[in-house]
Amino acid sequence: MTLDFRESPEAESLRDQLRTMIADLLPEEFVGGFTDDPADMETTKAFCRELGSRGLISLTWPSEYGGQERSTWEQMALREEMWANYEPRGAQYMNVNWVAPALMRFGSQEQKDRHLPAIAAGEEIWCQGFSEPEAGSDLASLRTAAKSTAGGWEISGQKVWTSYATVAQWIFLLARTDPAAEKHRGITVFILPLDRAGIEVRPIRSMVGPHHLNEVFLDGVWAGPEDVMGEVNDGWRVVRETLAFERVGIARYARCERLLLEAPTALGDRWSALPLTLTARWAMALVHTRLARTLAYRVIDTQSSGRVDPGDVAAYRIVVTQLEQEVGEVLMDTLGELSPGDPDEPSKFVRAAEDHWRYAQASTVASGSIEMQRILMTRSMELGRR
Ligand SMILES: Cc1cc2nc3c(=O)[nH]c(=O)nc-3n(C[C@H](O)[C@H](O)[C@H](O)COP(=O)(O)OP(=O)(O)OC[C@H]3O[C@@H](n4cnc5c(N)ncnc54)[C@H](O)[C@@H]3O)c2cc1C
Repeated sequence: MTLDFRESPEAESLRDQLRTMIADLLPEEFVGGFTDDPADMETTKAFCRELGSRGLISLTWPSEYGGQERSTWEQMALREEMWANYEPRGAQYMNVNWVAPALMRFGSQEQKDRHLPAIAAGEEIWCQGFSEPEAGSDLASLRTAAKSTAGGWEISGQKVWTSYATVAQWIFLLARTDPAAEKHRGITVFILPLDRAGIEVRPIRSMVGPHHLNEVFLDGVWAGPEDVMGEVNDGWRVVRETLAFERVGIARYARCERLLLEAPTALGDRWSALPLTLTARWAMALVHTRLARTLAYRVIDTQSSGRVDPGDVAAYRIVVTQLEQEVGEVLMDTLGELSPGDPDEPSKFVRAAEDHWRYAQASTVASGSIEMQRILMTRSMELGRR
């Protein structure tokens, strides 16, 4: 397989356009939307509306959904620019990565008409109601029950670790509609507004910031046939495809590379005084960012020719999540060599590095743990050998 690393003029010009937007619209101190400061979340919302007004959320969508049908490589350039700049789309990146593709593939005409224009305009935030207290890696064990009643369902149960549920308007919810069926069957996807009666969101305080982790309780929540995505009892198929979209959509290596490259400038004169063992780890981490980038490009290359290899996707995810943790450690050890500054006013680099380290602790668990990715990769290799 050969890979051409030259970027198209269209992708280069898109990067220029995005860099200008970022310089014009983001406050100098912005390190992401998920901080304790509510102004950061508002910045992401305004940024998304601007992206939407320029058609940059629906960049690759088919024209029938109002998209520009631009290439997966341009989409890749957009992802890299976003992640290198602390993901100013906030929770919206999920819409681009998997909510909109799932709607296009499985949604009813009414659902497409309702949601795709709102997503393209940068106006809707979604959350993913999959995990439950006893159903994470073994997601098909989920117990949230949708009981059939006259003309619809009543849904009761509990979701956990639901990112962005405090700021989202919609939940992509999995519930069991046929308790007698084998566990991978009998699951249905419901798309529900979070303000529907019977839904309660409770934030979980954690080191990944105020919006990431929540519990969602459902108590007799009404759902009609119009709230079902895809076929009743066929939700597992939707989930399998949705997760494949989700796992490759995040260019975290771009942020890793940016932070590593900023470290020498941020340390100034003190950089040359760092122990050689630490600068050697810094250099190795930089090599690993290039490795993760190459693996991402390999997945995009196969995707752009219409195929997806789940083994490649899992390999990328393993490498990029381990990279995040490696970079987090290198950055924290580097900061440890700084003389203590004013703790009330840490620099942007210190805040960004610290934020990166905290989130990196969870990255080998979120979106499917690293152990499950290894299992997926092994299975895919075994299938390939047959
Ligand atoms: C920051 C963050 C954000 C998240 N956001 C969301 C969200 O928006 N929506 C959502 O639905 N979920 C979300 N999750 C949940 C995430 O998908 C689950 O945490 C993950 O799938 C693991 O499930 P679990 O926590 O139940 O752990 P378990 O499944 O109980 O696993 C515990 C440990 O056992 C290992 N293990 C389990 N089974 C096996 C096996 N068969 N072989 C080998 N090892 C195994 C796991 O790899 C893991 O190390 C989020 C999690 C985090 C950390």
